[in-house]
Amino acid sequence: MTVSTQARPDQVPVLIIGAGPVGLGLAADLGSRGVPCTIIEQGDGTIYHPRANTVNSRTMEFCRRWGIAQEVRESGAPPDFPQDIVYATGFTGPEFARIARPTHGGHRPLPTTPERPQRCNQIWFDPILRKLVSRFPIVTQRYGCRFESFEMLEDGVIATVRDVATDTVEKISARYVVDCSGGHSGIGKKLGVKQEGSPVLSYHLNIFLKIKEMWTHHDKGKAAFYFLIDKNGAYGSVIEIDGRELWRLGVHGEAYKEQPSEEQLNAVIKRALGDDIPYEVISARRWICRDLVANQFQAPPIFLAGDCVHQHAPSGGFGMNTGMGDAVDLGWKLAGALAGWGGPGLLNSYQAERRPVAQRNVGEATDNVTRSTDPALIALIEDMTPEGEAARKTIGAEIVGTRSKTFISDGIALGYRYESSIVIPDGTPAPRDSVMDYVQTSRPGSRAPHAWVSEGKSTLDLFGRSFVLMRTGSDAPDPATLVKAAKARGVPLDVVSTTDPEIARLYERPLVLVRPDGHVAWRGAAIPDNPLALIDAIRGAV
Ligand SMILES: Cc1cc2nc3c(=O)[nH]c(=O)nc-3n(C[C@H](O)[C@H](O)[C@H](O)COP(=O)(O)OP(=O)(O)OC[C@H]3O[C@@H](n4cnc5c(N)ncnc54)[C@H](O)[C@@H]3O)c2cc1C
Repeated sequence: MTVSTQARPDQVPVLIIGAGPVGLGLAADLGSRGVPCTIIEQGDGTIYHPRANTVNSRTMEFCRRWGIAQEVRESGAPPDFPQDIVYATGFTGPEFARIARPTHGGHRPLPTTPERPQRCNQIWFDPILRKLVSRFPIVTQRYGCRFESFEMLEDGVIATVRDVATDTVEKISARYVVDCSGGHSGIGKKLGVKQEGSPVLSYHLNIFLKIKEMWTHHDKGKAAFYFLIDKNGAYGSVIEIDGRELWRLGVHGEAYKEQPSEEQLNAVIKRALGDDIPYEVISARRWICRDLVANQFQAPPIFLAGDCVHQHAPSGGFGMNTGMGDAVDLGWKLAGALAGWGGPGLLNSYQAERRPVAQRNVGEATDNVTRSTDPALIALIEDMTPEGEAARKTIGAEIVGTRSKTFISDGIALGYRYESSIVIPDGTPAPRDSVMDYVQTSRPGSRAPHAWVSEGKSTLDLFGRSFVLMRTGSDAPDPATLVKAAKARGVPLDVVSTTDPEIARLYERPLVLVRPDGHVAWRGAAIPDNPLALIDAIRGAV
């Protein structure tokens, strides 16, 4: 690394590289905290091909905090569109498994979150985030601006960027840089970041299709996913994008190392849809399924978030959601560091908190795609014989038993927790980590529990800006000494007192200190004897 002494342009507090969902999520989070930042994107912001669909409950909670949850809900399929997962030998062949998803779509609330998971493709989700970011005058968005290189200084970074339209180069000086440039990040390579895991699990082709009311052309009814498996194994999946006319066909195999010709493309579509479903091809893109987690998420003042530090198999829909978690973990820490109340340990806790979550989610995503079914049974799956019927029954039961967790993963979405130097453990054992189920807890490091405070207002709506001390029950201790300590260190702290018995039950202790990202920093029955030490610990100054 070189240290430059040359004259430099005015410093921006945070430079974000890449306006995918993670970069935009971070820009929104910083904007909502009053932190000026600049986000640069090499493209023009148009999304030509649909990738992520699943916006999990935790990301929806962030959207709620940013005021866009309703808009996300209204994008994509109509609310009554069934979210079932169907397994069949083909659109004209027998169905042999169906996973019902009562928690997706529809209007049913969940007891553990004010926000159900939602399917909203990135073709709508990213523009919603972009519009949100535009509402913050302190956030500068620059499209058609490519990051090229950086120079590390003692107090920041000088980035060299190129205006794609004019082909001119300029320097941007930033106190902090966050790399959100996706799976092909050049910054990580220059920093010596190593991607650990498998760079190739499989080769894929996705075909974006227009098929008006596809369900009128087959007998499987409306569903979010149709997985197609014949006697040779899984040969495709068709996924609902807008619940009206947009679908995505996915196929995989070594053949998709190369882009297929138009003729090959049509053959692939015909194999999946049969001869009777009329279609129009919008676009076709190859992609590689990977299992990668970076060995390093930070080299302060540079931080890395999203696909540039974790690349997941898409089954389960964990990729973008994990990246949004990175963005929200960084947002308040950058704000604290820039405001001066954050100690050196605050930003340094980023990797300790987020890398284990990425490892967990990437591991689970890979597990979802590496399960196999007995080939002897698969060989019988199309047979219209008693043996074929028995094979379909066995395979169907196995699929519902083992693959439901791919599509119902509330534990992955909401149950991640942090163990880091800024989370004060209370000695209680970690709860069981479950993929499907989520049990609310106020154990330090966990997302603080949701309960309704009043009609339409969740406890989660109390969090997001400052630290919040939740005082629950009728005899919660006086918080005055803690409030004084926070004030002495400039740490923003609000106190919320409630005697609501349900909130007291869920919060488990009379005092629960919630961080600006909604995770619990500390809990106890009494204010500690040295409240300043507690404040110093949670602000990363110990
Ligand atoms: C088929 C498929 C289905 C998926 N489904 C889901 C799902 O249901 N749920 C889910 O959570 N995830 C899903 N994912 C994963 C999800 O799409 C990614 O995890 C997510 O897009 C990553 O966001 P990101 O912002 O980190 O990176 P990206 O979306 O890749 O954005 C990075 C941005 O940085 C820009 N950029 C790159 N280099 C530079 C540079 N030098 N200068 C300026 N800009 C630059 C790029 O142009 C791009 O816009 C799926 C992925 C695939 C392939």
